[in-house]
Amino acid sequence: MSSETSTKARVALVTGASRGIGQTIATTLAESGMIVFGTATSAKGAAAISEMLGPSRGLELRLDDPDSITDAVATIASDSGAVSVLVNNAGLTQDQLLLRQRDEDWLKVIDANLTGSMRVTRACLKGMVKQRYGRFIHISSVVASMGNPGQTNYAAAKAGLEGFSRSLALEVASRQITSNVIAPGFIETDMTASLSEKQAEGLLATIPVKRLGSAEDIASAVSFLASEAASYITGQTLHVNGGMYLN
Ligand code: NAP
Repeated sequence: MSSETSTKARVALVTGASRGIGQTIATTLAESGMIVFGTATSAKGAAAISEMLGPSRGLELRLDDPDSITDAVATIASDSGAVSVLVNNAGLTQDQLLLRQRDEDWLKVIDANLTGSMRVTRACLKGMVKQRYGRFIHISSVVASMGNPGQTNYAAAKAGLEGFSRSLALEVASRQITSNVIAPGFIETDMTASLSEKQAEGLLATIPVKRLGSAEDIASAVSFLASEAASYITGQTLHVNGGMYLN
């Protein structure tokens, strides 16, 4: 490793950094010394991220809006240089049993979680290839492996993201770029806040460590995969789920 690469702060982009897991990932990477940009779907959300991470580090990006993706990556390039670490964290659910699922519920979830993450990845790829260094970390879900009734669309999108990551890993391995997935179990965020007490109790019974995960549990795994220490790990899915699913 040259002294330049070891001392220059890495530039990281974390999508969906306005709340939940992404917010904690962004602050954790910033604390480790990276220059971190985080995204929200609104200008107000982006401004709140800038307050948290530093001037102009919050950007607007919507996964279903390709221009917002290319604009955000171009802004980062002109402000701080190429993205070295991309955390594809932003995601959404639109749960419905398949019998009642409309095409638009399916397409919304596939478009955002899978196609949107692909677009952010592709936008960052050229810069990483040029600098011959990169870390792609995609946030999937345990349901990609386990399945979950009511989430055929979400599970398909996340399983797709895992196959995408493995193929990308092979395409870019010779350039010192890695691509890995983190598959969280059930983590305490807005996404899981809507569970009833009964659902939460039922869920805890399936988790051997007897607690929901925290955003910090995911952020520390991201931190490791984003580090120089993880350069020989690529094409993998790291499950962070308190033992509820063992693969
Ligand atoms: P969250 O609290 O619901 O936050 C979602 C984040 O994604 C927000 O920053 C939101 O921005 C952004 N976002 C939503 N829709 C978007 C869109 N169309 N375009 C761009 N950004 C969008 O979610 P979370 O629980 O932290 O989950 C983060 C990731 O972990 C997701 O990929 C999720 O699938 C995955 N995950 C979560 C759990 C869990 O138990 N929570 C478990 C497994 C996997 P705004 O604030 O602007 O809306």
